[in-house]
Amino acid sequence: MGLRTGDQYVEGLRRRKHVEVYVLGKLVEDVTTHPFLKPSVKAFKATFDAAFDEDTRALARVKSPFIGEEINRFVHIHQGPEDLVAKVKLLRKLSHKVGTCFQRCVGWDALNTMYIVTGKLAEREGKKVYFERFVEYLKYVQKNDLALAGAMTDVKGVRSLRPHEQPNKDAYVHVVEERGDGIVVRGAKANITGVAVVDEVVVMPTRAMTEKDAEYAVAFAIPLDTPGVKVVVGRQVNDLRRFEGEIDGLPYLFNHEGLVIFEDVFVPWERVFFYKEWKHSGELVEIFASFHRQGYAGCKSGLGDVIIGASFNLARQLGIADKPHVQEKLTEMVFLNETMYSAGLAASWEGRKLLKDGGWWVNPMFANITKHLVARFPYEIARLSHDIAGGIIATGPSEADLKNPDLRKLIEKYIQGVPEFTAEDRLRMVRLLENISLSAAYLVESVHGAGSPQAQRISIQRLYDLQKAEMIARRLAGMTNAQLDQKVEPHKPSDAER
Ligand SMILES: Cc1cc2nc3c(=O)[nH]c(=O)nc-3n(C[C@H](O)[C@H](O)[C@H](O)COP(=O)(O)OP(=O)(O)OC[C@H]3O[C@@H](n4cnc5c(N)ncnc54)[C@H](O)[C@@H]3O)c2cc1C
Repeated sequence: MGLRTGDQYVEGLRRRKHVEVYVLGKLVEDVTTHPFLKPSVKAFKATFDAAFDEDTRALARVKSPFIGEEINRFVHIHQGPEDLVAKVKLLRKLSHKVGTCFQRCVGWDALNTMYIVTGKLAEREGKKVYFERFVEYLKYVQKNDLALAGAMTDVKGVRSLRPHEQPNKDAYVHVVEERGDGIVVRGAKANITGVAVVDEVVVMPTRAMTEKDAEYAVAFAIPLDTPGVKVVVGRQVNDLRRFEGEIDGLPYLFNHEGLVIFEDVFVPWERVFFYKEWKHSGELVEIFASFHRQGYAGCKSGLGDVIIGASFNLARQLGIADKPHVQEKLTEMVFLNETMYSAGLAASWEGRKLLKDGGWWVNPMFANITKHLVARFPYEIARLSHDIAGGIIATGPSEADLKNPDLRKLIEKYIQGVPEFTAEDRLRMVRLLENISLSAAYLVESVHGAGSPQAQRISIQRLYDLQKAEMIARRLAGMTNAQLDQKVEPHKPSDAER
């Protein structure tokens, strides 16, 4: 089939069978028309249309070395630093069109992770079966241009206990039965982006494991309509706005996350890519997390552009755009935004090969730095935007007020700023800013997506070579004659590079 259009993706969703998706306690019949999920479908759809739209086509299309055809970049295995850079750029560009998390990059990062992890198992330990199965799966995904969710985060129960120590044995997804034709899995993954509107879900372990956790060290992919899979869609701030009109509701601006429950779900062996490989579980998580941390440079700076643009427009509507403090705040927002983006580009240009023949990965230090910046800067950018926008961002009249003929004239008179813009213009821009700058996609996802900030600090601490930095200082202080090696950064190799 090859590249799909957005409409073909939507048709594909309608063809899914057995899908069990719940929104606000009720089973959803058709995710493509349900008001709560429709904005998610639209955002996902944009990733397909990107391969056809004039302004994104060059970034979104790429030739697959696996099937020899042009495919959507969202199912591509990176072939070098240029591909890693193109990922960040595509994410920034798409954010301008979607205005929220477009939800397809977790599955993409899962594909690249499983390619490297299964490839390493084949190269290092001669276990070729996982790699062969995975490449077959990859070709299927690329040929059919599938929408994938990536499910790593387990519900985790007691955080300080390992999977096998949990009072609830199902707190981490695990294998409850091995059969001749496959495995049966039980457990649940939390906070899974876009999961109600995908074709398939790629499941991976979420932490380093010990031998006693072997049954939890499992990665696989299944269609979302596999019997036993249930999705409970989560709530977000302002989510009932999805039921509203085009100003307050805004057609594009919501994604969703879901709790995915696996109630004794059968997975055929050809879809199992990692099993009982507990020794490599930590490495798998490191590879995935670094890919995902790099990607945030693109999508969050793209949303930052929308917020900066909205703030500038609102400043113009208030007649304050040229005031020094406003200029200062806009410059600060640009500085914060471009810092996140630059770090992600550095993580990409400094990418490295983890397999003899490919397996391109990011620079893990720079990827962690990127995500750690992202865990902070969007809050500051949002704060500055609210400062410029004024209190109306939290208090403005509704779309319904504007549509009330008795009120409209008064709103037009009292809500307008400079005559160049109407009151409706102001309300539209205020709503856009509110919906993006206070959204789960821009704020909470920036903190917790790809791991909470502490996870990045642990990685940063592990990857920096303090002894080497100390030696550099001791040498300059005349305390040692030790020779420096050729490496520029005092970084240690990550587990994945060892
Ligand atoms: C909007 C959004 C989208 C997401 N999308 C996806 C997705 O598509 N796929 C996916 O797999 N995941 C996704 N995630 C999940 C994300 O990776 C997790 O939220 C993140 O890893 C943190 O896990 P948690 O939410 O369970 O937080 P918790 O683990 O409950 O963390 C709460 C606090 O406890 C601390 N903590 C946790 N464990 C320990 C410990 N052992 N010792 C000391 N402190 C600890 C943390 O540092 C944090 O401060 C998403 C999250 C969000 C918010």
